[in-house]
Amino acid sequence: MIVDLHCHSTASDGTLDPAAVVARAAAQGVDLLALTDHDTTAGLEAAVEAARAHGIGFIPGIEISALWSGATVHIVGLGIDPLDARLRAGLERLAEERARRALAMVERLEKLGLSGSEAAIPGDPRAAGRSHFARWLVDQGHVKDWRAAFRRYLNRGRPVYVPGRWAGLDEAVAWIRAAGGVAVLAHPARYRMTASKLERLARGFREAGGAALEVVSSSHTPDDRRRMAALAARLGLLASAGSDFHTPGGFVELGRDLALPEGCRPLWSQWPAARSKGATTPETCFA
Ligand code: AMP
Ligand code: MN
Ligand code: MN
Ligand code: MN
Repeated sequence: MIVDLHCHSTASDGTLDPAAVVARAAAQGVDLLALTDHDTTAGLEAAVEAARAHGIGFIPGIEISALWSGATVHIVGLGIDPLDARLRAGLERLAEERARRALAMVERLEKLGLSGSEAAIPGDPRAAGRSHFARWLVDQGHVKDWRAAFRRYLNRGRPVYVPGRWAGLDEAVAWIRAAGGVAVLAHPARYRMTASKLERLARGFREAGGAALEVVSSSHTPDDRRRMAALAARLGLLASAGSDFHTPGGFVELGRDLALPEGCRPLWSQWPAARSKGATTPETCFA
């Protein structure tokens, strides 16, 4: 069974609309998919409908931007009820923050002599992120590629980086749980923390009510996967897997190379219907 529990659509910083993400996942042989856009559930309705049409299992998800000990970390929520009032109130705050931050980034670019970057902001400015500015920088020929955009301008410590006033780690987990979901610490090996700091983060996440580590991610090397599997086992956390797909034509593909290492306890083995193929609604997947 191919399970992909982390990807993006045009509702945040992906380039395919939600239905197209689902169609592509189905074409790639994905049996169970979660759409996890940054700080928004706007794509879920269209994705659920597309998953029904394609006959693949679907889990409504989100990837919440959070702060822990001064670092930005990402918390994936799976099986959430997008209408939950507490989740909605939290996401409202983050959406306002995204809009504010996008304008601040336009000002920074202006000061560097790069004008016109309002055009980078998507139709809904509350969905804006650094990826939108990266694409604009590439399209305008200011940098040769996406990586250079982050390296030169957008990474922390670079001139266009505006820190986000995101949710606290505990808040992000609480919103997800209030909405009936389970919380997953996204791509833990990507935070470039020492092993002991990462273990503190994972313990704090568990104490906040977190359920799983994203052991397998496209941004994890085989060695990262082994280390994250060992950390999850040591802390009694479940293991999740997701491509973090954003756009076609890159190195990352939906559903590809997502097998968990030996010895992991898969998060989805707890989802009765997910064990058999053909679960087509969030309700049946996540019963
Ligand atoms: P934001 O949440 O607006 O700060 O944007 C974070 C997003 O930017 C991530 O989800 C990635 O899609 C992208 N991103 C962040 N850092 C990099 C990087 N070094 N290279 C490429 N993409 C990145
Ligand atoms: Mn992203
Ligand atoms: Mn992320
Ligand atoms: Mn992501």
